[in-house]
Amino acid sequence: MIEYEEALEAVLSKSPALQTEAVELLAAGNRVLANSIVADRDYPPFERATMDGFALRAETFRPGIEYRVRGTVLAGRVWKGKIDSDCVEITTGAAVPEGANAVIRVEDSRSDGNGRVHFECHDVKAWQNVARRGEDARGGELLLEKGQLVDHAVISVLASVGVAQPEVYVRPRVSIISTGDEVIPVDETPGPVEIRNSNAPALLYMLSALGIQGSSVHVRDTPEQLEAAIATMLRTSDVLILTGGVSKGSRDLVGAALEQAGVRKVFHGVRMKPGKPVWFGRHDSEGVFVFGLPGNPYSVQATFRLLVEPLVRSFESLKPRPSLFLPLRGDRNRSSSGRADFFPARVWTGPEGTMIEGMQHNGSGDIRACLASTGLGRHPANRESLSDGELVEYFAW
Ligand code: AMP
Ligand code: MG
Repeated sequence: MIEYEEALEAVLSKSPALQTEAVELLAAGNRVLANSIVADRDYPPFERATMDGFALRAETFRPGIEYRVRGTVLAGRVWKGKIDSDCVEITTGAAVPEGANAVIRVEDSRSDGNGRVHFECHDVKAWQNVARRGEDARGGELLLEKGQLVDHAVISVLASVGVAQPEVYVRPRVSIISTGDEVIPVDETPGPVEIRNSNAPALLYMLSALGIQGSSVHVRDTPEQLEAAIATMLRTSDVLILTGGVSKGSRDLVGAALEQAGVRKVFHGVRMKPGKPVWFGRHDSEGVFVFGLPGNPYSVQATFRLLVEPLVRSFESLKPRPSLFLPLRGDRNRSSSGRADFFPARVWTGPEGTMIEGMQHNGSGDIRACLASTGLGRHPANRESLSDGELVEYFAW
């Protein structure tokens, strides 16, 4: 068996072929730019007034002198004149006319109503209240690197420079095959020894939070059904996730069925709890990445976060979401399993600061194990107990 880090490295060792598509600006939110973006022109594109007031030539200013007002320059309008020893009224966002190099705020002015104004300030500095052409960015300057996640700030820049349809990476097609003779659909009534399928909905939801609309089918524990579903899904998926059937029981048929379908095993078994039986492989000619996750609800959610999500992100050139190190609140003991223990945890903020708190649960089959958790803490394999205040690795959901 390998450690979690080795498993993650193996999952990410072969990068998927990146594909790109152009989308509408708003649809690019939360996606990843596939092109670098440069400024199409200088920003600001012209000498821009940053205040409402009067534009004049700073060198002409003497305290108390009166200026003739030549007119008004409005934002979005071109004003053709040239300023000499006179001035012009100007609004925020308008282009400072030729000859002028400063704006005096309207609050510091007193107009006589007859086209003349004087100013109640003592001095005027060249370029005061003017944003200089190109001071924010030069035409051709790199503004956004490819690989950048698009958020409101990026949308704002894309819009500013006229990128109406940014090129972004295509997200993977992900399919789920849940397995188990005892597992029935959510809307059916279970018999006494049957349980409802919670893995498929949980995984579909976790995928949707990554912007992926996955699909799922359920199959019974027979090699024929399993192999047929795998063959179909391999043709239409970039990532295939199976749940259940990867342990050592007589009905744990997933590993054999995958290999039968031409999926090459990369690893089976990780020294982590939950997640020990995780199976991972690749179908090289179809270019599909395949996970066999354990069947228990907590195992599925934890292994998705720790192993599947990083692969899904790599289709968009994103690195795994970084973990945090936070102090543990309270001591934590565990019976030594020889495996790293990923426990449901929640961030707690109080007078002592921000800490993470381990949450009680009843094992990986507990349907409530993840409730109210904000992520997973890691209890390292080589540590019997962790003490209050000790830094613990934390993976947010
Ligand atoms: P398995 O890995 O197939 O041995 O399943 C481990 C445990 O997870 C068993 O108790 C299963 O009944 C349960 N399980 C398997 N698949 C699902 C599922 N889709 N939803 C909920 N529980 C499941
Ligand atoms: Mg099973």
